[in-house]
Amino acid sequence: MRQIKLADGTQLPALGLGTWRIGESRAGRAAELAAIRHAIDIGYRLFDTAEMYGEGGAETLLGQALGDALRAGAVTRDELFIVSKVYPHNATRRGTAQACERSLRRLGLARIDLYLLHWAGPTPFAETIDALQALVETGRIGRWGVSNLDIDEMREIETLAPGLCATDQVYYSASQRGPEFSLLPWLREHAMPMMAYSPIDQGGLANDQTLATIGHARGVTAAQVALAWVLAQPGVVAIPKAVRPAHLEQNLAAAQMALTEEELRRIDARFPPPDRKQPLGML
Ligand code: NAP
Repeated sequence: MRQIKLADGTQLPALGLGTWRIGESRAGRAAELAAIRHAIDIGYRLFDTAEMYGEGGAETLLGQALGDALRAGAVTRDELFIVSKVYPHNATRRGTAQACERSLRRLGLARIDLYLLHWAGPTPFAETIDALQALVETGRIGRWGVSNLDIDEMREIETLAPGLCATDQVYYSASQRGPEFSLLPWLREHAMPMMAYSPIDQGGLANDQTLATIGHARGVTAAQVALAWVLAQPGVVAIPKAVRPAHLEQNLAAAQMALTEEELRRIDARFPPPDRKQPLGML
């Protein structure tokens, strides 16, 4: 698995697993637990969750699956990289610390490796950053970052806390290339990997004809081509969500694919890069 370096030198896998829309119902629970365990067994090490997902349900389910895998010796804690997020309405000085403790309890962990402000809310960034830095100092989180912030807000974050924000997690896929215009270059200049969420457009790109044609010639699916395209972008981590075992396996295989210049040109023709600033997409 290709690794991406954070500014503090930590390496993280370029491909992780998203957990939005898991842990929401009892009916899906067994299959979702099995999916996360399968993901660990086949090599996933980076997991993305949030207090918002299933109102804690995704963290609880992820925590149970991680706990089972850790107890079984399938993986060690140090090999795992766990990302979670605080709701903006909780991101005050006290609220951030309390939300983090709740997330840790649900996850059954002593540390969240990367803790993100889920999107900009009513609390000034300076207050949230103070709260996040305090969590780093007590070891409750390894580092912090943000999500759904565009370049002007990232400049503000960088002014308030130079070099401390680890990442910006944003909507980025072959059909959502807006961040390439100015945000992604800015993040690269600041040695901040971008985490691409919904990299296959919530499954939508699995039906794209151009990607399917490219995939057909290689014996892979359109979704795999979409994911390989995101992972071909320097400094970008992708966190597709998948529950079906075949999807988990296909996505891991996509992380090993190298698209040719010709294939990249065909994807550019289908989904042209932005020629002007576009508002950041948000799901
Ligand atoms: P996504 O990963 O683009 O798409 C997930 C959907 O695609 C699921 O329905 C999944 O099906 C399907 N899928 C996965 N692999 C596939 C494959 N190889 N072939 C065909 N279909 C495939 O969308 P997402 O869940 O919105 O985004 C991923 C993660 O990013 C989330 O889970 C969450 O962790 C994070 N996220 C963050 C934010 C934020 O504001 N920071 C916003 C949105 C998402 P199955 O599950 O049935 O396998």
